Amino acid sequence: MKGSRPGRDASAAAEVLRPNRLEAKTKTASVPAVILFGSPGSGKGTQAKLLRHCLQGPHISTGDMLRTHILAQDGIGQQTERLIKSGKLVSDDLVNELVESRIVEPDCRSGIILDGYPRTLNQAGVLRGMMARYGFQPAVVHLMVDHEKIVARLSGRRQCPVCGTLYSLKTNPPKISGICDLDGATLVTREDDRESVIRERLSQYESQTRPLLNYFRESGVPMFEINGAGATPDEIMRHICDSLTSSGLFDGANAVEGANASVTP
Ligand code: AMP
Repeated sequence: MKGSRPGRDASAAAEVLRPNRLEAKTKTASVPAVILFGSPGSGKGTQAKLLRHCLQGPHISTGDMLRTHILAQDGIGQQTERLIKSGKLVSDDLVNELVESRIVEPDCRSGIILDGYPRTLNQAGVLRGMMARYGFQPAVVHLMVDHEKIVARLSGRRQCPVCGTLYSLKTNPPKISGICDLDGATLVTREDDRESVIRERLSQYESQTRPLLNYFRESGVPMFEINGAGATPDEIMRHICDSLTSSGLFDGANAVEGANASVTP
């Protein structure tokens, strides 16, 4: 899964922060860091993958990273599995460390797309420090979708356990029912996509994550409010790409090609 480093535990994650891994860092450069923000089921994972049409750099999903640890049944997996399956957030220190160890990797020097991080004020503060330290220019893309739509969306969601691609039975089904278009694996329903767990995840979002919108505003992080419903995923991606490109924030250096050039009609 994208952004994952299977089998590494927190201490191993810390170990990769040795100075030689940071040589690529350029304090003056402004490397785009797009923070996909929104409640569970707002389409962050889907958009992170589609944004490859207009942005370079890896998709870093803390949820995917944690699920990879759970599959590997390593220390981090054992420590977090119960929390994740019940819809609770895992510890700030753990995700902060996972993210920091990932963004110092060389493939992040052209840009990063963060999905599911930060989710608390502590994480937002730590991320802010990392952005400054490693020369990233953050911008928030807020995907807005109302909660009742989210419950319907998430309970019809299926995921490929191999590549992490998300499908929706209603709006974005696989070509062959139950099978991933990309690698033929059998799709699964995530345990935390059961309705009771979805409601818990939404409640965690409301109490811990939504307040970050104010934090971003007050810290002057550019923010793009995007309607995450009522259009196809490709149309939403086009809207995001257009907004990011026309903001001039990323001055085209990061653009893969014109925002409209490779969008599926
Ligand atoms: P996601 O796939 O982003 O919805 O994440 C699935 C689950 O992983 C969440 O419900 C949390 O239990 C955990 N998780 C993912 N990212 C974070 C984070 N930044 N902080 C705390 N817990 C997280």
